[in-house]
Amino acid sequence: MTLPQNPTRTTRDYQALDAAHHIHAFVDQKALNAEGPRVMVRGEGLHLWDNEGKRYLDGMSGLWCTNLGYGRKDLAAAATRQLERLPYYNMFFHTTHPAVVELSELLFSLLPSHYSHAIYTNSGSEANEVLIRTVRRYWQILGKPQKKVMIGRWNGYHGSTLGSTALGGMGFMHEMGGMLPDFAHIGEPYWYVQGGELTEEEFGLKAARELEAKILELGADNVAAFVAEPFQGAGGMIFPPASYWAEIQRICRQYDVLLCADEVIGGFGRTGEWFAHQHFGFQPDTLTIAKGLTSGYIPMGGLVLSKRMAEVLVEQGGVFAHGLTYSGHPVAAAVAIANIKALRDEGVVSQVKNDSGPYLQQCLRQVFEGHPLVGEIQGTGLVAALQLCEDKPSRKRFANETDITWRCRTIGFEEGLIIRATGGRMIMAPALVATRGDIEELVSKTKLALDRTAQELG
Ligand code: PLP
Repeated sequence: MTLPQNPTRTTRDYQALDAAHHIHAFVDQKALNAEGPRVMVRGEGLHLWDNEGKRYLDGMSGLWCTNLGYGRKDLAAAATRQLERLPYYNMFFHTTHPAVVELSELLFSLLPSHYSHAIYTNSGSEANEVLIRTVRRYWQILGKPQKKVMIGRWNGYHGSTLGSTALGGMGFMHEMGGMLPDFAHIGEPYWYVQGGELTEEEFGLKAARELEAKILELGADNVAAFVAEPFQGAGGMIFPPASYWAEIQRICRQYDVLLCADEVIGGFGRTGEWFAHQHFGFQPDTLTIAKGLTSGYIPMGGLVLSKRMAEVLVEQGGVFAHGLTYSGHPVAAAVAIANIKALRDEGVVSQVKNDSGPYLQQCLRQVFEGHPLVGEIQGTGLVAALQLCEDKPSRKRFANETDITWRCRTIGFEEGLIIRATGGRMIMAPALVATRGDIEELVSKTKLALDRTAQELG
C-alpha cells in the first residue's frame, strides 16, 4: 500500500500542473498533455509505484541507469554525509577534494591498466561533448589540427546536446537543427535487417569495412575518431556480429584514428563485465561513462582517457580551456563511490556474469524462440532485445512495426511492466540486482504483452 507523495494533490492535479509548466523529452507535448503522464512516486528494488498505487516491474532500470535498483539507503546516506561535510567545490584551477580523488582511485582500480585519467561531467551528453573537444585538442597538440572529423553510426545515440546529437546518428534529431560540420556516419551492424544473404560473420566484416571506406573518402588526415556504443542501446539494443569489433579496431589503428567507446549504457556491469568493450574484446582509446556510474541516483558522467592520450594532454598540452561548474561534484562523487563499492563488494557484476544474466538469456530463449511474433533474440548479461517479424524464414518485418512495438509497450504498462519499443524491437535492461523472481516476472509479463499484441494482430 503506497500513499500519494502529497495527499492533498491528486494525480490529476500533478498532471495539470505538469502540463502547464513542463516540456518533456522525446514526446509530442500536446498529445501528452491530453493523456496526462504517469506520476511515479516510489521505487524499491526493481519495482515502481505510481500515484494511484499501481505497481510496475521496471524492466528498463529507469533509462538504463538504476543498476543497483531503487531504494538504496546506503547511496542516500553517502549523499547526505557529503552534503553535510562539503556540498560543493569545483575543479577549476588549483583545487580538488577527497571525494573526487577517491572516486578516481576506485574507478581506475576497476578499469584496464591502459586507462589513467578522467574528466568528470554531469551527464552522458556532456561527456560526449567533452570527448569531441578533447579529441580535437589531442590532435591539435600533436600538430594535426586538421584531424577533426568525428565518425559515428547511423542510429547510434550519444546524447541530446548539439555535439552529441551530431555525433549520434538519429536522422530525426539532425533534422531538428542537430547537425554540425565535421561529423560523418557509417551504417549500423544490424544483421537481422541489413544482412541479406550474408552470414553474420561476413556481415560483421562488411559493416566494419564501411568505416575504412569512409576514412578513405574523407582522408585519414582529416579523421579524428570513430565513436560508437559497444552494443547499440537506444537504437534498438543491436549486438554486432562477433567479427565486427576486431575489424573496427584494426581499421582505427591502421589509419591512426582514435577508437572511442560510448559506455554510457554498457558500463558498470550491464553485460556481466564492468565495461561492455571488455565483453566484446576490444581496446578503445576513450570511454564515455554516465548512468550506472551513480546508478542514476544523482547526475554524473565522465570521459575516461587512455594513458597515451592523457600523457599528450598533460605533458604537452598546457592549459586546456575547458571546464564545468559541477565537474567532479563532491556529492555526485560520493554517491558514485558508494555505488561502485556496492556493485563490487556485493558481487553484483559477477552475479550478472554468472547467474542472473545467463538466467535471463536462457528464460528469454525458452519462452520466445517459438513465439509467432519473435524473429530473433539478442542479448547478454542483463540486456536483451526481441526482434519482431512477420515471417521468420525470410526475416520479413511488419510494414507497421513501430506501431506494433509501441502497442506492445502500452499493453506492458497496462500489465504493470516497463519495457521499451525501438523500431521493430522490444528491449529490456533490468537493474543488475534482479533476482530470479524478478527475472521470471519480467519474462512472464513480457510474454503476456506479446501474446496480447499477437492476438490483436489476429
Ligand atoms: N550515450 C548513450 C549510449 C546513451 O544511451 C545516452 C542516453 O541515453 C547518452 C549518451 C546521453 O546521456 P545523458 O542522457 O545522460 O545525457
